[in-house]
Amino acid sequence: MAITVEPSLFTRIIAREIPADIVFENERIIAFRDIAPKAPVHLLVVPKTAEFANVTELAAAAPALLAELVAIVQQLADDHCGGQYRLVFNTGPLAGQTVFHVHAHLLGGPLPEGTLGQ
Ligand code: AMP
Repeated sequence: MAITVEPSLFTRIIAREIPADIVFENERIIAFRDIAPKAPVHLLVVPKTAEFANVTELAAAAPALLAELVAIVQQLADDHCGGQYRLVFNTGPLAGQTVFHVHAHLLGGPLPEGTLGQ
């Protein structure tokens, strides 16, 4: 019996099946505004491949892609929030992960001092 796997929400955004406010795109990575922002600047930075569910898998299998993602985060932070940012990879449902296609939350300021909370 054939098993069909639903494309992830982010794969559907990459395919333009779901609209998003896209702020960056190259062959490997896309970035767009989070639909429910938790900070004045809240971008999702997403490898286009749906192969990796979380940052641990990405780091183990494709470290150059993770490094490129971090470099793009800095570039986006330079453009959107003065070069300073908080980077969050929710990993697992108990940590708040809801989309199992690896993505970074870029949160920019001003952010509350003295807390890691969003
Ligand atoms: P996580 O909970 O870490 O898996 O992050 C998933 C993020 O996707 C959440 O912060 C959501 O607000 C965000 N999100 C869900 N649907 C959309 C959408 N259509 N466009 C942009 N961001 C979305």
